[in-house]
Amino acid sequence: MNLDKYFSLGDQVALVVGASRGIGRAIAEALGEAGARVVLAARSLDKLEAVAAAIRGQAAQASTLRLDVADPASISAGVEQVLRDHGRLDILVNVAGTNIRKRAEDYTLEEFDAVLSTNLRGIFRVTQVVGAAMKRQRKGKIINIGSLTTTLGFPYLSVYAVTKGGLGQLSKVLAVEWAPYNIQVNVIAPGFILTDLTREMWQREDMRDWLAATQPNPRLGTPEDIAGMAIFLASPASDYITGQVIFVDGGNTAGSRWPFQPSA
Ligand code: NAP
Repeated sequence: MNLDKYFSLGDQVALVVGASRGIGRAIAEALGEAGARVVLAARSLDKLEAVAAAIRGQAAQASTLRLDVADPASISAGVEQVLRDHGRLDILVNVAGTNIRKRAEDYTLEEFDAVLSTNLRGIFRVTQVVGAAMKRQRKGKIINIGSLTTTLGFPYLSVYAVTKGGLGQLSKVLAVEWAPYNIQVNVIAPGFILTDLTREMWQREDMRDWLAATQPNPRLGTPEDIAGMAIFLASPASDYITGQVIFVDGGNTAGSRWPFQPSA
């Protein structure tokens, strides 16, 4: 069987926004291994350079780009540079995200704006600019990173959930709007993944016990758990899939385990 026909990203140009660590790093590495020319973007250029060097060490192609999604000028300049350097952009993975965990009533409007300007306004703007280029090419794959909060409610994540729910809806609308241009737009919604964003929360034993007792697959996820789905959604194998939110969550959204056991 020629798996390349389905999964090879040979010669495709991929921009991963938020590739300096965590889930974005794992996705960038995987796309590189699958043959894409990967452009790694985020604010921390030193970290990006280290990731790009590791990817090049695997005989894959990678370059870096300093880009702050909260700054529209940085987005326009960055995407223009990618198009100048590579001539096109086939795959966009929007991973950049942040969170402030707080009771809803304690959120200041400044904090609200800070989370929105990265997770929603920033991703919207990147997608607008890249989408325009993909429309001209009549080809593109856009992968947004959602969350369990794209559909579920967890306490103290009100503003984060607004952004991740918004990304889910944005992706559906764009999937429809840009389908005539052969652009597929999907969401990967990761479950609980151990990264810098969540490390403190998962240091608590009661949190780890709660997960182990309730989630179908009781372990925490790793960034690498997300990478295979990114390859799939970037590849020809997913050409007939668009506007979907795909959970990679150890079964979290399928249901939860409980202590009850039927009598023998
Ligand atoms: P992380 O380790 O904190 O990584 C966040 C990434 O986003 C970094 O590369 C960071 O790079 C980049 N970033 C943040 N603000 C940015 C900005 N203004 N401009 C450009 N890049 C920016 O977090 P993670 O857990 O891997 O999260 C990645 C994505 O997955 C986020 O969207 C998050 O909401 C989502 N997610 C995570 C989990 C989880 O359990 N970890 C679950 C569901 C969804 P710089 O700091 O260098 O800019």
